[in-house]
Amino acid sequence: MADRPKSFEEFYYLKEDKICDIDVVEEYATKNNGDIGKYEGNMYCPECKEAILTFCGKTSKRRAHLKRIPSSKHREKCSYNYEYASSKRVKEFVDSLTYNEIQDKLKSILNMLCKQHRPNTDNVGGVMRAITRSRIRC
Ligand SMILES: [Zn+2]
Repeated sequence: MADRPKSFEEFYYLKEDKICDIDVVEEYATKNNGDIGKYEGNMYCPECKEAILTFCGKTSKRRAHLKRIPSSKHREKCSYNYEYASSKRVKEFVDSLTYNEIQDKLKSILNMLCKQHRPNTDNVGGVMRAITRSRIRC
């Protein structure tokens, strides 16, 4: 298991049955003196929708993020159970792949998402945004 808890940029919002971006919570918290009101207790892991997430506001050291409440668990097959790879390791790994291998991996991620959840274009969009963001960070 990871030493450092995984953080999330997106979450499954139970009340509206959709995947939302952390930005909406951050905006809400900013307008309400740090109170996340309607989102409290209604944010779940975007992948397995079982682990409950909590909001951690922005500090001088890191940006706002969501993390799992320790008492709640991910579903066994949820990828968030797996250890974090550092962005350097990820970059090395991605660099070691050929163009075709990358295409295959992206395809299998999309297939996996479509199998696990009913086809949800919001979710696929979210994954693509996450991939784009992590590339920008590298
Ligand atoms: Zn999960």
